[in-house]
Parts: sequence; C-alpha cells; structure tokens
Amino acid sequence: TFITLEGGDGAGKTTQAELLEQWLEGRGLEVVRTREPGGTRLGTEVRRLLLHGGDEIGEVDERAEALLYAADRAQHVAKVVRPALERDAVVVQDRYIDSSLAYQGAGRVLDVDEVRRISEWATGGLWPDLTILLDLDPETSSGRRRDRGGSSDRLESEAVDFHTAVRDGFRALAKADPHRFFTIDAALPVDEIHTRIVGRVSGFLTR
Ligand code: C5P
Ligand code: MG
Repeated sequence: TFITLEGGDGAGKTTQAELLEQWLEGRGLEVVRTREPGGTRLGTEVRRLLLHGGDEIGEVDERAEALLYAADRAQHVAKVVRPALERDAVVVQDRYIDSSLAYQGAGRVLDVDEVRRISEWATGGLWPDLTILLDLDPETSSGRRRDRGGSSDRLESEAVDFHTAVRDGFRALAKADPHRFFTIDAALPVDEIHTRIVGRVSGFLTR
C-alpha cells in the first residue's frame, strides 16, 4: 500500500507521517517512511542542490528544476518505493508527484500536464493508493515557516501569492481525484488530524 502526504510548507506532513508510521507498526505492518526530494543517496544530493545550491549552481531554469525533481523521483521509486511495495510493506511518503504538479506546475510557469507527463515517465506510472492532503491557508503556512526560524531556502518564497497558487493547485488535484485524495484541514490539532488519518487508512487497509 502506497500512501503519500501532501500539502504546503508547514502543513504538518512530517509530523503526521511519523504518527501514521507508529500506528501502522503497532498493527504489525512493515512500514517504510520516506520523503521526496531526498529519499535516496542520489536524491540527498539533488535535494541539497535544489534547496541549498545557491551560487554553487546559479539560477536554475524551470524545466531543469522540474527534471531534477523527476530524477530524484525516478531513483527513489526504483530503489526504495517499488522494492518496498513488492515485499508488501506500507510506504508512507512525505511528498510525491502531486508536489511537483502543485509547485513546479501550478506554483510556477510550467504546464501542469507537462509536469505530470515527466513524473509518469520517471515513475513508470506509479500512483499512490491514497493521498492525504493537509490543507493549510497560506497565512498560517507563512506564520509556521517563520516560527521555524525562517528559511534561507531559495525555493521557499515568503510570497503568500505563491503559496496561494500552490494551495489552489493541491485543492484542484484533490477535487479532480476524490477517490485517491483525502483532504484534512491542517489547522486542526495534531491528534485530531492523526485520528482522521487513521480512520481513513484503517478503512482502506481492511477493504
Ligand atoms: O517538504 P519539504 O520540507 O521536504 O520540502 C522542501 C522544499 O522543497 C519545500 O519548501 C517545497 O517548497 C520544495 N519543493 C518543491 N517541489 C517539489 C517538492 C518540494 O518546490 N516537488
Ligand atoms: Mg516536512
């Protein structure tokens, strides 16, 4: 079973991924908790370049950026996700294709369908069984990012209109695929969000 968590920066994906992992392990399941970008050794380098490359790599063209995310994803699916799914582990993953559709597509200048085609090629068409969207309004999101001590992250623009576009992108994806997506208000308390996720996932696992 392949479960992804999506949403803007500061929505609580990592926290919920950890809680879900613990819950699944408590039910005796093998869990592989992982993330993109950066779920492999190659991906760690790609992540470092994308997020902290700065002057080392200069300004990155949008298509080059989208292909770097796709390269990270291809390696990750081939080396981590598919092997885990083949031995029947549950994969709990922080960000996947939908992040590229929302950030490189809706949030920037590339066409969402083009970004989707790159991702489908990179992954051999592997889509999650369930995607949990932690939906957070951009004002709260920027407040949470500030609370983390700001960010030197080249990509993490404080511009609320960028985060609004990303959020709208995620919501449009969820609306277009309600069977795969489960959307939760990320402003709810952590334990309430976890309870809702568990409710959805347990129904899913016993189906
Ligand atoms: O979720 P995480 O903190 O690992 O994401 C790191 C940064 O990478 C985020 O700030 C997000 O803006 C960016 N990102 C992106 N496109 C992706 C995945 C992540 O722009 N496909
Ligand atoms: Mg996170």
